Amino acid sequence: MSWLFSKQVVGAVLLLVLIGLGVYVYKRSQLASPPVVTEPTIEYQIIGQSVEGRNIMAYHFGTGPTELVFIGGIHGGYEWNSVLLAYTFVDYFKAHPESVPKNITVTVIPNLNPDGMYKVVGQEGLFEANQATTSKTVLATSRFNAHQVDLNRNFDCKWQARSTWQARPVSAGTAAFSEPEAMALRDFVLANRPQAVVFWHSQANAVYASECQNGILPVTLDIMTVYATASGYPAIQSFDAYPITGDAEGWLASINIPAITVELKNHETIEWSQNLAGVKALIDYFQ
Ligand SMILES: [Zn+2]
Repeated sequence: MSWLFSKQVVGAVLLLVLIGLGVYVYKRSQLASPPVVTEPTIEYQIIGQSVEGRNIMAYHFGTGPTELVFIGGIHGGYEWNSVLLAYTFVDYFKAHPESVPKNITVTVIPNLNPDGMYKVVGQEGLFEANQATTSKTVLATSRFNAHQVDLNRNFDCKWQARSTWQARPVSAGTAAFSEPEAMALRDFVLANRPQAVVFWHSQANAVYASECQNGILPVTLDIMTVYATASGYPAIQSFDAYPITGDAEGWLASINIPAITVELKNHETIEWSQNLAGVKALIDYFQ
């Protein structure tokens, strides 16, 4: 009887110890576990630096083999709304990861010309550029990088040292890809070979195809039509308002990468619903 009693006592003690241990481990785990992260993390890389040493960032969404690249701000503060549009897409894809299908990676390079942007905004990260309070001279020069080069004349497609912007001459650099910002995009593109590239500019209110020496790529015509139809911007095959040399989209065409240029309506609005529809249609096209 006594051995049975002591066995029960031992059993009860053991049970109590086990319960105590369980409670202790549970409490410890509650204390030790990190707070639950509900916000999705954002993957980014620094693809290069500007003349004045500002980082040029690329944000990635999804991990699929088909990469679509969207670029804002090649014309700096003069077209700051293209940068704001691009950052709005960064926020959108961060909040809606499900909008990027499994086979696709969306890459957004919001600000290819951070020095030009800085001339207008004054402080990185702020979007207070105001056409009304910024002098016309500052605005016009904020189109260029810190070497006063028009980056969209610095690429290797019919490059010439002197190029044009509307009626005025602009510097295209000392050679194709003489500028670190153009180099950064070139190196990123050559390393990743995206399936399509979209440049946001302002303010011609249209979607343009691209070409260099060998005509427009068939996929370029397709995606121009897809983006234009979904967004409502007119589609224009060739930019013929004035001759352009050394443009980034032309260089992409020359290495068989389809590229289009989307020009917003003015220098102030991002036309969000139009561009969201355009980007979604483009993603559907490649899905
Ligand atoms: Zn532009």
